[in-house]
Amino acid sequence: MPRILDGTAIAAAIKQEVAQDVKQLAAKGIRPGLAAVLVGHDPASEIYVRNKVQTCADLGIFSDLITPPDSVTTAEMFDLVSRLNQRDDIDGILIQLPLPGQVDAKSLLEAISPDKDVDGFHPVNAGRLLAGRPALAPCTPAGILEILKRSGIPIAGRHAVVVGRSDSVGKPAALLLLHQNATVTICHSRTQNLAEITSQADILVAAIGRPGFITPEMVKPGATIIDVGINRITSQADFDRFFAGNAKRGAAFAKRGSTIVGDVHPKAFELAGAYTPVPGGVGPLTIAMLMANTVRAAKMRRGQFAISNQIGRAHV
Ligand code: NDP
Repeated sequence: MPRILDGTAIAAAIKQEVAQDVKQLAAKGIRPGLAAVLVGHDPASEIYVRNKVQTCADLGIFSDLITPPDSVTTAEMFDLVSRLNQRDDIDGILIQLPLPGQVDAKSLLEAISPDKDVDGFHPVNAGRLLAGRPALAPCTPAGILEILKRSGIPIAGRHAVVVGRSDSVGKPAALLLLHQNATVTICHSRTQNLAEITSQADILVAAIGRPGFITPEMVKPGATIIDVGINRITSQADFDRFFAGNAKRGAAFAKRGSTIVGDVHPKAFELAGAYTPVPGGVGPLTIAMLMANTVRAAKMRRGQFAISNQIGRAHV
């Protein structure tokens, strides 16, 4: 039986360690602060931001939720970011994506001070990550590393295949694995003979955005599979394709009319040595690592990094 890598439990452990760190900082009169900027009323974004703000409260991190209207201009957003960059009570700035079309998101993310860039998207942090220097690493890839390390999955010398090359997931995940001495192959939509490559992976990271894309013949038996994908399916045909015979999922699907599937076909997990389920795998790590990055940013800004325990450390 493959081992299930329980992201919910790992995220809970990280959050507990972050809360400990927050307590230690409080004793020194420091309270880490996160500004969460949510533009408009995208339902998924509202849920994500609500969860982030709630998690801050749970861990003793100060948070400031800022909700500019849908009509906000790029200039107004620049002004907001500039004020947040200067605020001493704010250590991390999170701008929930997507932003409305009229806002130049790319330039805006570059306006965030790299020291407060808790999403790790700023080119300075991307460059630091590339160069193997301490950086605020993007939360989801950092979470993948935590899952592997805390589950005792060997990385050094293993062949890690990352399918997906986005700036937020695939590329940084590949770099983090490289810095841990994996032999890394990055695949994408133009990769030829994809199955031949993925079936050589000791560690297979799927960050594609296509439901059940990785099928059993693409997996090396015994591999560790990290499924980053979050895809909502609503049709009965899709449900049957992935979950036929799964009574528990079937009941939930009948009730809600939808369910979540990752980028890996559930049948492919059966071949794995270990895998992250969807939901309950990589997903919970993303918020946990955002919290860890906020505390790390607070320490770095005040020269307190030395008191860090293992969490929030550089992954390089
Ligand atoms: P993007 O759409 O930015 O990137 C998808 C990548 O997959 C691209 O590099 C693309 O290649 C590649 N790809 C697409 N089709 C194929 C194909 N047929 N064969 C090989 N490669 C392909 O997605 P993200 O990286 O942002 O997200 C990936 C998934 O992870 C999504 O399901 C998303 O919802 C999920 N996600 C989950 C998070 C979590 O917290 N668990 C956080 C962030 C994302 P190319 O570059 O050539 O186009």
